[in-house]
Order: sequence, then structure tokens, then C-alpha cells
Amino acid sequence: MRKTLIAGNWKMHGNVASIESLVNGIKSQLDSSWQSDILVCPPSIYVDRTVQLIKGSSIKVGGQNLSQQEQGAFTGEISGDMLADLGAEYVLVGHSERRSLYHESNELVAEKFAKALEKGLTPVLCVGETLEQRENDTTMDVVKGQIDAVIDFYQDKTAGLEKLGQGVIAYEPVWAIGTGVTASPEQAQEVHAAIRHYLAEMNTGVAEEIQILYGGSMKAANAEELLAQNDIDGGLIGGASLKADEFIAICKIA
Ligand code: PGA
Repeated sequence: MRKTLIAGNWKMHGNVASIESLVNGIKSQLDSSWQSDILVCPPSIYVDRTVQLIKGSSIKVGGQNLSQQEQGAFTGEISGDMLADLGAEYVLVGHSERRSLYHESNELVAEKFAKALEKGLTPVLCVGETLEQRENDTTMDVVKGQIDAVIDFYQDKTAGLEKLGQGVIAYEPVWAIGTGVTASPEQAQEVHAAIRHYLAEMNTGVAEEIQILYGGSMKAANAEELLAQNDIDGGLIGGASLKADEFIAICKIA
């Protein structure tokens, strides 16, 4: 059985005071009987503070991005070592905003995925199609390309699949992110199942075990039917993760 993961992506939101109240709000409503893992991904500058705030709880902290470089003259970048040093356990790679606004290619995202693993961080590989790609019926070509880049980064397919299996996949249709338009449970399940089927053709163990999260306007009101789908193992939540009550309501459902 795959464990559920509920992850909040805070994007570039918050300040010291709001993050303190958000984390305390989540913490105070946590229930130790819940089975899912709970992750929050603050802006990197607040990772340290968030790690301090979640102490004593089961909440995990992740970064939203990392550099593919080890260290050096890369002004403004954040390394995997730095995130790990602060106590982060996860990191998002290839979020669609990184891909579109900061021109991150599949190959660059694959490098970041590998760097995260090398540093002991669990990478959450974000994949997903634009509305145009969906309308052109190329959703799975796009998603497979994003996944293949990670597999192909390694010396052979066997090693690549094994590495991919150490991460998490988040399927986030670009047209559903921050738009209030959620993929229907059937639309999401269809892609999740297709991803798992694609992986199963190469490695059944990885296909069965890898967590595939859904992201894109997930909120308390639609989480139940999305999370009820066979191949949806959790959520990557943007807007709705910024309110403790809303985020907790999703965690409760999971
Ligand atoms: P959203 O964002 O929930 O606000 O649509 C999801 C994401 O970008 O990870």
C-alpha cells in the first residue's frame, strides 16, 4: 500500500508572522492517528524558521527549487546541501512555474532531480501539460518526456528507473494550477493511471510503489473525490495550503 502525501506549496507567499501562525495553526490541529505524511514547502528563506516551528510534530519541510550545481559562483542560487543542512527532507523540481517562467528544460529538471537525491532530499518531480497540449491530445507525450528525461539522465534505464522510484511524481496539469479549474477526478485518474502503466512497462516495482500526487486547484471541497481515485496518492496544494484550516481539512480527508 502506498502512503498518502499531502504537500503544501507556499510559492512566494508569507512573512515571518504569517508563516508562524500558519505552521502553528496546522500543528495545533494535527492528529497522530492520521496515516498520511504532511509536507510544507516554504520559500527557501523561511525553510530554517519553518523547520524550527514544526519541531515536535510529524510535519516535514521541503524546498521549492534547488540548484543543479554543487556550490560556487552562482549568485542567488540555493544548493541541495543548504536545504539538507537546514533540515529540509524534500524539494520540488520542475514545477510548471519554474519550467515556464524560468525556462527550466526537462534536462535541467533531471539534473536537479539527481542533485536532490545525491543530497539525501526526496525530489518531487512535477509534470503536466498545458491546455493547448491537452487539446492537441499530447498530454501523455509531454508527461512521458518529462519523466524520460529523469530516467535518461542516468547511465542506463535500470538505474534511471530505480532513481526515479526514490522520488515522488506530482501530476499538475498547467491549466489547473492557480486557476480554480480542477481536473475532474476522472481526468486526473486517467493520467495517473497512464503514468503508472507507462512505468510498469519498464519496472513494475517502481510503478506500484511510486507516489503520484495530484496538483492543480485542489481544495477541501474537491479533495475527497480526487484522493479517492486508485492512482492518486496525495496532493500538491498551492493556494489552499496557505490557510491552516483548509490545509488541515484536506489532511483529514487523506
Ligand atoms: P494551486 O497550485 O493549488 O494553487 O492550483 C498547485 C501548485 O502549483 O503546486
